[in-house]
Amino acid sequence: MGNLLKKRLCGLDNEILSIVREVAREAEGCRCRAYLVGGFVRDLVLKRKNLDLDFVFEGNAIRVAEKFSAAHDAVLTVHKRFKTATVVLPCGLRADFATARKESYPYPGSLPVVEDGPIRDDLYRRDFTINAMAVAINRKNFGELVDYFSGYRDLTSKKIRVMHDKSFIDDPTRILRAVRFEQRFNFEIEGHTLRLLKEALESNVEGNVKPPRYFVEFKKLLQEPKPIKGVNRLAGLRGLAFIDRNFKVGKPVFDILQKAEININSFQRRFKQRQSDSWLVYWMVLIAALPSSRIPSLLQSFHFKREDVKKILLSKNSAGIIRDLSLKGITPSRIYETLKPLSYENMILLSSITSQKIVRRHIKDFLLQYESVKIEISGSDLKEMGMASGRSMGSVLGKILKAKLDGKVRSVREESCLAKKLAALTKG
Ligand code: ATP
Repeated sequence: MGNLLKKRLCGLDNEILSIVREVAREAEGCRCRAYLVGGFVRDLVLKRKNLDLDFVFEGNAIRVAEKFSAAHDAVLTVHKRFKTATVVLPCGLRADFATARKESYPYPGSLPVVEDGPIRDDLYRRDFTINAMAVAINRKNFGELVDYFSGYRDLTSKKIRVMHDKSFIDDPTRILRAVRFEQRFNFEIEGHTLRLLKEALESNVEGNVKPPRYFVEFKKLLQEPKPIKGVNRLAGLRGLAFIDRNFKVGKPVFDILQKAEININSFQRRFKQRQSDSWLVYWMVLIAALPSSRIPSLLQSFHFKREDVKKILLSKNSAGIIRDLSLKGITPSRIYETLKPLSYENMILLSSITSQKIVRRHIKDFLLQYESVKIEISGSDLKEMGMASGRSMGSVLGKILKAKLDGKVRSVREESCLAKKLAALTKG
């Protein structure tokens, strides 16, 4: 095993490998044992690319991080209280440095109390055995696997297993993590762990965690490349009650989720330069059936950002927007006015909800053509025509844009003619 992981480490990108070696060198200078831990090690075994370098030291992690960052011109952020540090290298790579620690939970769902400890304790406080392995990186034992809890066995037999029976009680966010890793890797939550997870859900342990913290984990599930499997699994375990006590996801919602996945991918291919928060599209689909009056307090309890709240509230009018867009003979300017206030995510959602091809066509036309239409004439041109700036000027510019979108003006000259007419009207 030592040889295998040593080979894998040596096969990493040169940039990563040299960081690992340099960190180990600095750790040796500080007389520390150094390890890579957690998801990085899991993915090293699984041969999956992972750029989240998580280092743990038996010794003072902050000192190692300070030395390393000084030698590499990196930006260092220190969290003295937790004895951790984050280093961002000039190339953009990030590495976390932590002092090996032991954790205890004063009450279920609380943040843990930590004290220094050996690597074994640091690994024991983790969520699942597959995430509780370390690889030594000091020169004398470089590549040696540290696996006290049979993580390697579970990884090869594709099992998600908690470290101890109180795991979900100590930290209910692990319920969501178990489902996320199970679905991501096509693993299986092992029988005893599954029983503990169901018991935890039955006794509503998630209520012991602050809702925003629980939602952070749920958002990660929605950010997976294929999140529907995870949502489906969670729904099957009745793990969506944290959204609303009687929350259920039926087949119609799953059908829309599937369409959303297809649309997210097709929009991504078609509009490469645009970025969408795909998790938000899934979330809007999920909560579409909740009464509008329930939404603001729900979003507030999860501490949603104001811009996301705005998008979600707009999504509650999706049916009305679809109705408007399917009106016969709708003009480009009307399509523009209807879609302009919406976010890209709202448009992906609309395309997923509607069964009407024409609505999807209008959305694509908006994104490909109408949205970028600009008029040549400006406010200062209107001023020269004697118009005072203010609301009426804005309205004239809006009317010219509308005319351009609908093909009623096609040149600067025509824009200018229309502007003069409209300006005269506002004066009159
Ligand atoms: P991903 O590939 O999704 O980033 P990850 O395993 O790297 O997965 P992180 O959330 O970055 O996940 O966490 C890093 C490591 O910290 C995990 O591998 C695990 O060992 C530990 N960890 C994270 N969250 C918890 C938790 N709630 N309880 C215990 N250990 C945790």
